[in-house]
Amino acid sequence: GLGAGGGADLLRARMRLSLQERLWAFYRERVNIPGEEQAAARRAALDICAELRVFLHAKLPDMPLREMYLSGSLYDDLQVVTADHAQLMVPMVLEKNLWSMVPGEDTIMNVPGFWLVRRENLEYFPRGSSYWDRCLVGGYLSPKAVLEVFDRLVAGSINWPAIGSVLDYVIRPVVPSETLTLEVQYETDRRLYVDFLPLLAMEDGGALIAKPHRPAAERHQNLWRQSFRAAETARLRALDREDGGCRCACLKLAKAVCKLNAALQRLNASQLTNALLLLSDTEGDWTQEALADRFLQLLRALVRHLEAGRLPCALNPKVNLLCELLEPEVDELGYTLYCALSDPEGLLRT
Ligand code: GDP
Repeated sequence: GLGAGGGADLLRARMRLSLQERLWAFYRERVNIPGEEQAAARRAALDICAELRVFLHAKLPDMPLREMYLSGSLYDDLQVVTADHAQLMVPMVLEKNLWSMVPGEDTIMNVPGFWLVRRENLEYFPRGSSYWDRCLVGGYLSPKAVLEVFDRLVAGSINWPAIGSVLDYVIRPVVPSETLTLEVQYETDRRLYVDFLPLLAMEDGGALIAKPHRPAAERHQNLWRQSFRAAETARLRALDREDGGCRCACLKLAKAVCKLNAALQRLNASQLTNALLLLSDTEGDWTQEALADRFLQLLRALVRHLEAGRLPCALNPKVNLLCELLEPEVDELGYTLYCALSDPEGLLRT
C-alpha cells in the first residue's frame, strides 16, 4: 500500500492538479478577451490613428515623421482581461549627421537601458537646422519637450468633440498624464486608452521611446528609454512555436493576476516577460500539463528577483528592469508574491 510519503505525494499531486484546472478555468473565463471585443477595440484605435494622420499631415506638413502605427499587446494577442489600451507609435525622423545616441552607462547617470540623444555639429549646422532643435534641452533632445509638442497639438488644437461626433465616440485627452493619452469611449460601457509614443529608430533596428524614467527626477529628464518589447515578445512566441509550449498562456495569467490585484499593479509586461524568458533558459518542460508548476516557478523567481532588487533584461543583462521601482514598492510586491506562494489560488479570487 501507500506509505506516509506516498500519501503526501498523492495529495500534493491532487492539489497541483486542482491548481492546474483552476488556472486554465481562470484563463478561459477572465484572462482571455473575446475576439469580438478585441476587434471592436482595434477598430476604434484605427479610427483615431487615421484621424490623427490626416490632421498631422494637414496641420504640420514639415514635421519629420514617418507614418504612425498602432502597437502593443492588443496586436500581439497578449492583452488580458479587457481590451482597453493600445500604443500609437509616432516615429520621428532625425538627421543622421546632427544627432548621436549615447548609451546611459556611458553617462554620469549610469543607467543601462536608457540613452541620451546629443545634438552634434552645432558649429556647422546651427540651432534651427533640425526641426527637432525646438526640443533641445542643454544640448540634448528632450523626450519631455517632444511630448509637450505633441501634447499642445493633440490636447490643444485638435477638435476632439467634432471628430468624436463624426466617429460616434467620446474622445478626450487624459489629464494629467505621464505620457500623452487619449481616452476613447467607443461604446457606452467600453473605453480604450491610446498612448502617444514618440520613438526614434536606432541603427541596430531597435528603438528609443519617449517614456519618462521614473521616479521623474530632474537629472533623468533627458533620458530616452530603449524598447525591447518587440524583440522579447518575438522570442517568447518563437519558443512557444518550437515546442507548442504554454509560455504565452503563463505570461497572460501573470499579467491578469497583476492587473486584478492592486498590490501587484506595479509589475509590468516587460518584467513578467523577461522573468519568463529567464525561466525558459533553465526549464525545458512547457507543456500544457506543466502550466501550474511553471506558474508557481515564475512566482518564486519573481520573489527572488525582488529580494535581490535585480531582474536583468533577457536581451541585455546590464539592464535592471526593477531599477525604476522605489524600495517600498519592491517590498510590497515581494511580500504579496511571497504570501501568494502558499496560497496561489488566492490570486485568482478577484
Ligand atoms: P500591457 O500594456 O501590459 O498589455 O503590455 P504591452 O506589451 O502592450 O506593453 C505596453 C507597455 O510597454 C506600455 O507601457 C508602453 O509604453 C511600453 N512599451 C515599451 N516599448 C514599447 C513598444 O515598442 N511598443 C509598445 N506598444 N509599447 C512599448
